[in-house]
Amino acid sequence: MKTLPRIIKKIHPLIHRVYLFLKPAYWRLRTPAQKKFDLRLQYIFIGCCIGVLLVASIIPAANKLISYSIEKKELISEKKKTDQVKLEIPKTPEEQLLFNIETGKIKTTSLTLEKNETLSGLLKRADLSMKEALETAKALELVIDLRKLRPGQVFELFFSSDNTFYGLQMETRQGDTVSVFKDKNGLFIPQAKEGKIVSEMIKVDGTITSNFSSDADKAGLPKAIAAQVIQALDGEIDFRTDLKAGEPFSIIYEKKVTETGREVGKSILQYVSLTANNKVYNRYYFVDAAGTPGFYNEYGESAPKTLMKRPLGRGRISSPFGMRRHPILKYQIHHSGTDFPAPLGTPIPAGGDGVIVEMGWKGAYGKYIRIKHTNTYSTAYGHMSRFNDDLHIGSYVKRGDIIAYVGSTGRSTGPHLHYEVLKNGKQVNPLNTYTIPKRALKGNALQKFKQKAKEINPLYVDPQEKESQPIPNKK
Ligand SMILES: [Zn+2]
Repeated sequence: MKTLPRIIKKIHPLIHRVYLFLKPAYWRLRTPAQKKFDLRLQYIFIGCCIGVLLVASIIPAANKLISYSIEKKELISEKKKTDQVKLEIPKTPEEQLLFNIETGKIKTTSLTLEKNETLSGLLKRADLSMKEALETAKALELVIDLRKLRPGQVFELFFSSDNTFYGLQMETRQGDTVSVFKDKNGLFIPQAKEGKIVSEMIKVDGTITSNFSSDADKAGLPKAIAAQVIQALDGEIDFRTDLKAGEPFSIIYEKKVTETGREVGKSILQYVSLTANNKVYNRYYFVDAAGTPGFYNEYGESAPKTLMKRPLGRGRISSPFGMRRHPILKYQIHHSGTDFPAPLGTPIPAGGDGVIVEMGWKGAYGKYIRIKHTNTYSTAYGHMSRFNDDLHIGSYVKRGDIIAYVGSTGRSTGPHLHYEVLKNGKQVNPLNTYTIPKRALKGNALQKFKQKAKEINPLYVDPQEKESQPIPNKK
């Protein structure tokens, strides 16, 4: 035997056999029976080879698959770990947020909504991805109306130390806190927390030197409150002529602020005391059981007030009340009101305190409003271009409140206000004087009024308790 076969034979008899099988001389020496046996071996060998090749090709693929799933698992667990370590996702955002801010894990950024900017725009400005901005806006939309966001709205944005967006928070104009925070699964969860509104009574004292508006301004009274003072005494005193230099005035108004000290809602005049025509006028704000607000003297009486004769002021009258030739219909017709021509969009004030009972389109009147002042008196307004959006049927309006704007809707030749006064449902001449009688609070309402007056002004004295003394304040 040669060396090679001997070595092969030593390694394994089967391999030796394969070696022999491959040699052509070997085949020549084999008997047919042996050849048949070898052929079978050959098939087995080829089969084995194919098998090995198959397994060899499958293993790496399987390996890849296995390693991928392991990697993925690791990735997920690692992500969870970073979430836990870096973000400290709180179960109750308020509790942990403060902690995270204090420990520097969370950074806050304040951004103010700019003019014509949407929330998404603001979030993009904060370098949030489109996806995050969209998800945040979607979540926030569940708790507030995004269309009602106004320029100047401040958002507090929260980022983890590695600049991962974590959530945002804002205070609404009503003082509520609205937030969106990312939870453990990366979902943005909205939250709304009703804010605590604190009411503050602010007292402003001053002296008349030239005119009320500028003196009130000098004393630090907000313009809106000064306007409420004029309105509270409207129909009783003329602020241009009845005030005398050197007379003091005292005003108390209620301001509503949030916990953060931000002013919310409308401030309301609560008390005014001033001297006009040598008489002291004390007026207290009170809302009766029916929800109607008004100003009352210390006796709990509202002042008698007249209905406005010319809601748009001393302008021209294009068509008076009574019989006239109609400019469109071209025949004599009774004119049910007074027409005041005015530029399109001129604001129209309510002619007196009352409740809106009609508001909408009314045939030839076009856009029409009717205000009921008492069971006897109403005023009506026609041809308006648009209504005050804040009002609706049932709204309470005070004398002078803007209810709509001049237009030319309905049967009209040009922009003007058609103004009617109705007495027991029948139109009467608006240029005559109609007085809404004073209203006196009685019984329970009067007791509530006195209690409220004492709360507003600690100097309030119940006039009935000091009956023996003369009361100069009573009008
Ligand atoms: Zn008219």
